[in-house]
Amino acid sequence: EQNNTSADQSHFKIPDIKFTKLFINGEFVDSIKGQIDCLHKDVSSKTIGRTFDTVDPRTGEVIVRIAEGDKEDVDAAVKAAREAFDHGPWPRMSGFQRARIMLKFADLIEQNIEELAALDCIDAGKLFLWGKLVDIPFGARLLQYYAGAADKVHGEVLKSSRPLHAYTLKEPIGVVGHIIPWNFPTSNFFMKVAPALAAGCTMIVKPAEQTPLSALFHAHLAKQAGVPDGVLNVVTGFGHTAGAAVSSHMDIDMVSFTGSTEVGRLIMQAAATSNLKMVSLELGGKSPLIIFDDADVDKAAELALNGILFNKGEVCAASSRVYVQEGIYGEFEKKLIEKAKAWKLGDPFDPETRQGPQVDKKQFERILSYIDIGVKEGGTLLTGGKPWGSKGYYVEPTVFVDVKEDMQIARDEIFGPVLSLMKFKCTPKIRSCLRSVTCRTVEEAIERANNSKYGLAAGVLTKDMNVANRVSRSIRAGIIWINCYSSLDVGFPFGGYKMSGFGRELGLDGLHKYLQVKTVMTPLHDSPW
Ligand code: ADP
Repeated sequence: EQNNTSADQSHFKIPDIKFTKLFINGEFVDSIKGQIDCLHKDVSSKTIGRTFDTVDPRTGEVIVRIAEGDKEDVDAAVKAAREAFDHGPWPRMSGFQRARIMLKFADLIEQNIEELAALDCIDAGKLFLWGKLVDIPFGARLLQYYAGAADKVHGEVLKSSRPLHAYTLKEPIGVVGHIIPWNFPTSNFFMKVAPALAAGCTMIVKPAEQTPLSALFHAHLAKQAGVPDGVLNVVTGFGHTAGAAVSSHMDIDMVSFTGSTEVGRLIMQAAATSNLKMVSLELGGKSPLIIFDDADVDKAAELALNGILFNKGEVCAASSRVYVQEGIYGEFEKKLIEKAKAWKLGDPFDPETRQGPQVDKKQFERILSYIDIGVKEGGTLLTGGKPWGSKGYYVEPTVFVDVKEDMQIARDEIFGPVLSLMKFKCTPKIRSCLRSVTCRTVEEAIERANNSKYGLAAGVLTKDMNVANRVSRSIRAGIIWINCYSSLDVGFPFGGYKMSGFGRELGLDGLHKYLQVKTVMTPLHDSPW
């Protein structure tokens, strides 16, 4: 057993928490409900809003209390966002003016990288170094990318067989509600906020209750950069209260959600039964990684393990189903276990650590209960399967074999460091035709990979590009990685097929979903029709 909490290892001092209140109309404010509670209790001389704990998953200890927003606060935030959209400067500015403010916002993120990385580290158990080098810079990069697109939004002139002059305008959708998850608090924030700002929308962000700290800091920096009051509001709080108030609000024009498929379904229902607001959903996955006999076994084992253990498996596109062709299966299994056993867990501030704690107790227990289910279903644990360390919410890297596709551990998204390893056949007769694109081996892999209600991502490792291309075109998923896994770029659209959702983030598709098309027409000459 090791003591797994010593932030000093990085020589980085955890910052004081500066922002704990709701950010509405350019001000940090208490939640309304708590103030009403105080009035009822006749302690009106000093009213404070209702609050909730945010917890450090390295220890299970409370970091600070955060304002608990609810329906009333969402109403206030929507009122501010509506006013800013209907009468404020933001949607009326040129794209270039918005871009300048967004670039300043990006500069401020870059000036505060370490502090923001530390906030996501203590709130979500994310690796500090990853935050510092990748995640927080990516937030700034998103602002820069969409700032570059803000003055290039335009419609087109339409051709008609009738004497009409017609064109389209691309207009901002209006007030957007962003509901974001806890696994990538900063990237998810800017994957939604940056394109919506560029489009000229105004917005309410509801961060996950597990990770509110960085979102409030971002709001403060937005104000410093010159984002006008009311354009970007942050209401911290729980999903069934504040989140539900966003998805069912009558005056929000679109809800953009990233999170679990179950909650995605609730959001769509709420949107349908309220004002039919536009919906975009980035949901769960159970992504397959298919490894053919001709792949480099060592590299393949490293990629497969990284694909599932990156961010402790709290990744919607994690490689949670790994299919390995028979010829290299034995060697692959051996390497995978060696590497999983050597994987370093520990304090996420320690630069040597590769895996920190799961985000909270609920997720930690959920993962452990899935491991129990896997064993009961007849899966065999090759390695892992237990909590790690003396405190905090750590789970060992876990690999199951003897997994069948109808088992729960092969079907459900576990959202933790749990991999199901499976084998696919290559009979001698078929082996000779491995290079052929019609090979049955390839078909078996494709069929099994597609056997899921999800369709977010998939990976294929092979030197044969015919096979890679055939797999890429046949898998029903939004992202295909050939000879890599988990790679992303700000310009590459990201999103799912099937029950992994719809709508895309990143790239120009990620901007266009915050725009709507208006068609304008006029007669070309003086005829009535
Ligand atoms: P979990 O925390 O159980 O994994 P999600 O990952 O789906 O749930 O949560 C993602 C986001 O959705 C969080 O911000 C959460 O507060 C919010 N949320 C949860 N339930 C609802 C709901 N019923 N309506 C709106 N938002 C919700």
